[in-house]
Amino acid sequence: MSIGKRSRVREVVREVFRRKAFRFGWCSTCRSYVLRVSTCPVCGNSVKFIDATLPRDVRLAHEYDIEVTREAIARSCGVSSEYLDRVLPRSGTVLLNKVQYVDAADEVIVSGYIIGTRFFDLLRQEWVFRPQYEFASLIIREKIGYYGIVRGSRLSVGEVIERSDVLEGDLPSDVGYYVPLETRDGKFQGVGRVVGKDRLKVVKTWSSVEPLELEGTCTVDRIIEVNATVLEALERDSLKFIESCLRKYSTYVPLVTFSGGKDSTVVLHLSSQVGVREAIFNDTGLEFPETYRNVDDVASKLDVVVHIASAGDTFWNLLKKFGPPARDYRWCTRACKLVPMARKVRELYGSRPIMSIVGQRMYESVQRALAGRVSTGNPIIPKNILISPIYYWTALEVQLYAKLRKLPLNELYLKGFERVGCWLCPTSRLAEFKIVETSYPNLWSKWRGYLLKYARVKKLPREWVEYGLWRWRFKYPGDVANLVKKLGYRPSDLLEKTAITRCIITENIRIGEVHSLGIVMVNCCEMNLGELCKYLSKIPGTTTCKQLSDTVIVLENRLGKATVFSTGRVSVQCSSLESCFKLLTEIAKCIAKLKCCSECGLCTGFGEDSTRGCPVISAYVASVERQVREKTAHVRSTH
Ligand SMILES: [Zn+2]
Repeated sequence: MSIGKRSRVREVVREVFRRKAFRFGWCSTCRSYVLRVSTCPVCGNSVKFIDATLPRDVRLAHEYDIEVTREAIARSCGVSSEYLDRVLPRSGTVLLNKVQYVDAADEVIVSGYIIGTRFFDLLRQEWVFRPQYEFASLIIREKIGYYGIVRGSRLSVGEVIERSDVLEGDLPSDVGYYVPLETRDGKFQGVGRVVGKDRLKVVKTWSSVEPLELEGTCTVDRIIEVNATVLEALERDSLKFIESCLRKYSTYVPLVTFSGGKDSTVVLHLSSQVGVREAIFNDTGLEFPETYRNVDDVASKLDVVVHIASAGDTFWNLLKKFGPPARDYRWCTRACKLVPMARKVRELYGSRPIMSIVGQRMYESVQRALAGRVSTGNPIIPKNILISPIYYWTALEVQLYAKLRKLPLNELYLKGFERVGCWLCPTSRLAEFKIVETSYPNLWSKWRGYLLKYARVKKLPREWVEYGLWRWRFKYPGDVANLVKKLGYRPSDLLEKTAITRCIITENIRIGEVHSLGIVMVNCCEMNLGELCKYLSKIPGTTTCKQLSDTVIVLENRLGKATVFSTGRVSVQCSSLESCFKLLTEIAKCIAKLKCCSECGLCTGFGEDSTRGCPVISAYVASVERQVREKTAHVRSTH
């Protein structure tokens, strides 16, 4: 997808989120959150709306989350535990709201107040807290942590404040920490980020507010009681939705896709209410022990059959061939998820169409919001659809409902994981890997050992492992690229070392009617040309393909002529540069097949074209294509 198109898609989704925004508030009389309505269903008082950042997929914090947040506030705001017990008691009910950030970040909501945001700072590799409004005001007025009273009568975002501008206060020296600020006359408040020795940069300002005042406690049971009507309405809607799908897709086999997480546990419970008693669990071979336990607990509690689609040792076997998976190189999804699922489904139901009942929710992500409540499913199962009964639920509602119905909870949530999945998934945040590292040292040292060895072979720096930079293979997103630079490396240098192949342009000229393009694909030496010849002759439009010697193949195609050498050098002559690109891409595909195919069987047996279906081959070809286009553009512009 192009960048322009992607940003347009985002815009559409933001609009959807705004229109279908989940609204919730706080009833100070009942001391409870009130979901989706503006008057409290218990006392009838109007509710104070909480303007948390969209998509507002709020969730309950578990004990571990509260502990981590307390530590972050203590460390980065200098607030003592005596005050923390008041603001963020260990036994309290705290909501978290995930916000967009390069790693884990959540708004922290206590008794109806957003007291600030916690971030996992990648450079510091620790949680940092940014207080705001009432809590920042409390820190300043009661002097319970780092704060500053500044000389000026105004505060503006972007302004840099030197220590000499601070009349009174206590400033931390750690870069990246946040400090509440107030003007001398007490009219304005804000937050500054420590950007250097004795220097702060103002990042947020507001007209002064009264300090946070908390009295009494709020319990999860109370929230469930107050919102019983809403939870029951969500339940009714979801049950009706499943029933209507069962009628509409009556020839399909209904099957719950169960991950061992909270969302699919609720979906399995709902489905079992309307007679669907079969589920499938995908054991990628990389699941946490808690997940296996939860699968057993849920199956016995709900009295449903859970089929296991196991990937066995596939991941570790393919790792040798493909290298570490990345967010933009997810060979593992196909190998460890889609294929085992497709195999199991075929074994159980033959070629009957499948209606997968899943726990996807629109508030989870842009992708989920775009997918819709009914969408297409596993691309390698011939006929199947996905339906999401809890599509309109928030994480909080799933949690409350699961508690209301006493459904077993995967203990991973108690340990601080926000999602349940493979323990080394490249889509994990560094904050989650820190938990794996401390809670599962054996698992983590296996993976870390592999990465360190891989880094040594590829001559990558240690930081590539320590900062999780292996999670991208082709391109670092902006924030990560900045981190790489701060660590003292050029992003392109790191990416180059993990590149699947590297292309050098040797020739790019036009003589008369013929354009001639030559490249060398490094890492391709000593190809078996006999084998390659077979692939090349199948390129559409090929008239002749001849191996002239042990080292050369000549190819004639309607696009033009090509010469391929066993060293990885390829030269093509066509009537236009664009035709050269096309022919070269086709040849690269054949070379990729020769170089990358491990005959793992992923692409065969499901009636597919092996080059289109294989993620590794398509990554290789895309890499060649991108490099050739970039590098020829460069050559052209320097001529
Ligand atoms: Zn009330």
